[in-house]
Amino acid sequence: CGIIGYIGNRKAVPVLLYGLQRLEYRGYDSAGIAVIDREEDKIIVEKQVGKIKDLQEKLWNKKIEGNIGLGHSRWATHGEPTIENAHPHTSKSGTIAIVHNGIIENYLELKKELEEKGYKFRSQTDTEVVAHLIEEFYNGNLFETILNVVKKLKGAYALGIISSYEPDKIIAVKKGSPLVIGVGKDENFIASDIPAVLEYTKDFIILEDDEIAVITKDNVEVYDINGNKIKKDILHVNWDI
Ligand code: GLU
Repeated sequence: CGIIGYIGNRKAVPVLLYGLQRLEYRGYDSAGIAVIDREEDKIIVEKQVGKIKDLQEKLWNKKIEGNIGLGHSRWATHGEPTIENAHPHTSKSGTIAIVHNGIIENYLELKKELEEKGYKFRSQTDTEVVAHLIEEFYNGNLFETILNVVKKLKGAYALGIISSYEPDKIIAVKKGSPLVIGVGKDENFIASDIPAVLEYTKDFIILEDDEIAVITKDNVEVYDINGNKIKKDILHVNWDI
């Protein structure tokens, strides 16, 4: 179970795959990536059961050029290790993609509410509710929408979220599961731990519980769960990988 995210000028796919490999020690049964294709204005998702190497092979011939994306290695808690249950999970229209580590404890209740509104579920995970909730409550401002949605969630989560509605940012929110932000020059990263992106930067912001970050390629802003801006220190790491 690991999360990685990239926004910058490089192609996202190799950075995501490298990060997932560095997170392999955390254990996983399947993996996937989501990348924003800005020419088509859509999100491309690829998933695979098994090793990161298997995902890499699946991506070998595909030209995924985008510079913003998320990656996930899954340790199944709700639902078998299948392609459908692997992350990233997307909303109905495919405009929102999310990766999640942890457990949404009240997902059955949320799922029922969404099903009553006509949402169809494609996976057995606890995670998929979050993608649909963001789509359902999207008000033209992804950050505000996510602040509203996380208030409905019980349990533990590190979440990385991208949307083709606002293709210039990654939003990251944490409660109970680890998440760090790697701060680069004209590029930024999210990851479950520091070594996953130490190849690219040595400057980090460590997210604490109930903090939410809005990450663009040249800026990182962190807020509390009520939307108040927080000043965070940069941790400079001098260990080598
Ligand atoms: N509970 C989620 C699932 O089973 C996330 C698991 C994880 O942390 O990898 O899909």
